[in-house]
Amino acid sequence: MLHHRAMTVTMIKKRMADGSTCKKCVEAEDMLRRRGAWDRVDQVVWADESDPESPGMVLAERFGVTLAPFFLIGDPSDDPTVYISALKLHRALLASSPPHAAKDDGPRTANTEPLDIIRTALETHGPRTAIAFSGAEDVAVIDLASKTGLPFEVFVLDTGRLHPETLRFIETVRVHYGIGIQVMAPDSAALEAFVAERGLFSFYDEGHKPCCGIRKVAPLRRALAGRPAWITGQRRDQNPATRGELQAVEADTAFGTDAQPLMKINPLAAWTSEDVWRYLRDHDVPTNPLHAEGYPSIGCAPCTRPVGPDQHEREGRWWWENDTKRECGLHTASAANETS
Ligand code: SF4
Repeated sequence: MLHHRAMTVTMIKKRMADGSTCKKCVEAEDMLRRRGAWDRVDQVVWADESDPESPGMVLAERFGVTLAPFFLIGDPSDDPTVYISALKLHRALLASSPPHAAKDDGPRTANTEPLDIIRTALETHGPRTAIAFSGAEDVAVIDLASKTGLPFEVFVLDTGRLHPETLRFIETVRVHYGIGIQVMAPDSAALEAFVAERGLFSFYDEGHKPCCGIRKVAPLRRALAGRPAWITGQRRDQNPATRGELQAVEADTAFGTDAQPLMKINPLAAWTSEDVWRYLRDHDVPTNPLHAEGYPSIGCAPCTRPVGPDQHEREGRWWWENDTKRECGLHTASAANETS
C-alpha cells in the first residue's frame, strides 16, 4: 500500500501551440472528477508545447516522459513516483488514504469568486470554451470573461420566439464587448414539421418540452458539439427545486459522453439575484430593457410574463406548469436525451 497522504500530487498538463489544452489531459481530468478523485490533485503544472523551458516540459524531460498528461506523487524536485496513466494514478490514490476533507469539487470552485472560476476554466479548456448567452442578466458572465483577457466564444439560441427587445439586446452586447456571437437557429425542416402537426402554441396544452426540444435543446446540442466546456449563468437560487445542488464546475452528463467529455462551468452558482444585479450596476453592464418592465427572468415571449414584487423570478416562466418542470432541457439529462 502507498502511504503518500501527506505527499503532493501533481498533474502535468500539456498546452498546445494554439493555446488549447491537450484532449487527453481534458479527458483525464474529467475522469478524475467523475470518480471524485480530482480533489486529490494538489497542483497542475503546464507543459507548453511551444516552450521547452516551461515547468511541465522540464519535468517531462527530467523523467523521460513523452506522453501527456502524466502525474507525480511526491515532491517533484525530489524522487516522486511517476504515473503516465490517470487510471493507475486513481487506483494508487484509492489504495492510499481518503480524499482531502477541506476541498470542494476541485482546486478552485464552490467558494471561489466567479472571475477566478471563469479564468481557470478558460486557462484549462482553451479558446473553444463557449458562454451560453440567453439575452438576460447572465450577460454578467460575458462581462467577467472579457475581464480575464483570455479568448472565449459566445453563442445564443434564437428560438424564433424571442422578444424583439431580446434580439436587439443581443446586438447591443455584441457591439458593446466587440465579440462574435454565434446565433443558433432551430432545424428548419424539423420545426416546420412540428408546427404543421401541432401548431404554434402547443406548449400550453402539452407542456413546453417538445417545443423546447426542437427550438432549444437540439440547437444547443449542435452548439456544444466538439467543445471541451461551456459556461452558463445558472444559479442555485433560480429554482431550488431543480438547481439547488448546482455545482460551480461539473461534468455535463446531459450533453457530454465518455467518448466526448464536456465540462459545464456555472460561475454564478452561489450568487443570488441580488448579487447579479449589484454586479451589473457596479460595472455598468448593459441589460435587457425587459427587466425594467417586470421580467426578472426572460425566455421566449409566449412563455414568459412579468411577475410581481413578491413573486419568485421563475414564476414568470411556463407559469401553467408545476415548479419541478420549469426547466427547458438545457441542463437536464433526461430532456437532452429525449431529443438526441
Ligand atoms: S420557451 Fe416556449 S416558445 Fe420557447 S422553445 Fe420553449 S416552449 Fe417553445
